[in-house]
Amino acid sequence: MTSRQLQSLARQHGTPLVVIDHDLIRRNYASFKKHLPKVQAYYAVKANAEPAIVRTLYKAGASFDVASLPEFMLVYENIKGLPRKEQQDFIWDKIIYANPIKPKETLQALDKYKPLVTYDNLAELKKIRQYAPHAGVVTRLRVPNTGSMVELSSKFGCDPGQAVDLIVAAFDMDLVVEGLSFHVGSQCTNFQNFVQALEMAWAVLQEARSRGHEIKILDIGGGFPAPYDKHVRPFSDLAKKINAEIERLFPKDIQILAEPGRFLVATAATSLARIIGKTVRDGKPCYYIDDSVYHTFSGIIFDHCRYHLKAFRKGKPEICSVFGQTCDALDTISLSEELPELEIEDLVYSENIGAYSNASATWFNGFPPAKVVHVNAR
Ligand SMILES: *Cc1c(COP(=O)(O)O)cnc(C)c1O
Repeated sequence: MTSRQLQSLARQHGTPLVVIDHDLIRRNYASFKKHLPKVQAYYAVKANAEPAIVRTLYKAGASFDVASLPEFMLVYENIKGLPRKEQQDFIWDKIIYANPIKPKETLQALDKYKPLVTYDNLAELKKIRQYAPHAGVVTRLRVPNTGSMVELSSKFGCDPGQAVDLIVAAFDMDLVVEGLSFHVGSQCTNFQNFVQALEMAWAVLQEARSRGHEIKILDIGGGFPAPYDKHVRPFSDLAKKINAEIERLFPKDIQILAEPGRFLVATAATSLARIIGKTVRDGKPCYYIDDSVYHTFSGIIFDHCRYHLKAFRKGKPEICSVFGQTCDALDTISLSEELPELEIEDLVYSENIGAYSNASATWFNGFPPAKVVHVNAR
């Protein structure tokens, strides 16, 4: 989006505003498929659950990873009857429910869709057997999350030593283990995590086979990093590593899926806010904007992410602080931004803010979440 387009959208819709460019979502999806041609992408809806994003990705050929019943229904309702670009023939080609822990009511509601669901412990398996006996299951393996921006291995995944027992236990209960999955942690810039995880998955599949169980799907999870700054190595480098390991370790006919969230949507959104207050504290200029860490900038808290602010106004950059609109001191967007001297009512914007941003916005302090506008959604 050009500066002119962004400013015109802000004038038209007011602030705070999140602008999502669907050309960029399609481009990210195409890049994912180009570099990982054997991998079907199941978009992790939690990164940004805007229905228009679900529709755009489905039309482009994507499938979906959901983590709750409402997310499942959101996808189900939005893709119904939509045309889709031809893509690989997958056993479960539309939705995986990849939250390893599910309330029994959710399992009951999902059962009639014969869903694909993940698990990483015996209690969950028993629950699935009782409440969703028509589900196919995927065993979630715990793998190293070293250096990832958001760590997941302390909460999910069975230890490699238990995995095969959990697979056998599922078959003993007359459930079918369709796949093995892992997640290397979100915004994974340490590509070795993927290499190690693939090796661990291979070892589990080997042992399962030796105990009489062939597993058809390998789910390599999410974690594909968005290019937030120049330190993130190109996606093509990571893809090369993944392709080489897959080629080396796994049989030709294995079905491989991934659950990219951030990678598909992070770069597709820009947020716009207005300066609503300014002062000087300890000699440093301070600006207050009409958005906050409880709203579009919630990724600062929940996602451990940093966002830079830019101005349309020209001028000599100076170090300043930027705070959100709420009354909480936690609501600090940055203590060291470089912005020219700004006036009240000036616009500022933040790029690459499409993942884990408006998705986790609240109504704290009575301020509603930013308006979301979609461009090039077709
Ligand atoms: C959050 C999540 C994802 C998406 O992760 P990204 O790092 O955004 O790609 C994928 N799979 C599971 C199971 C998740 O919990």
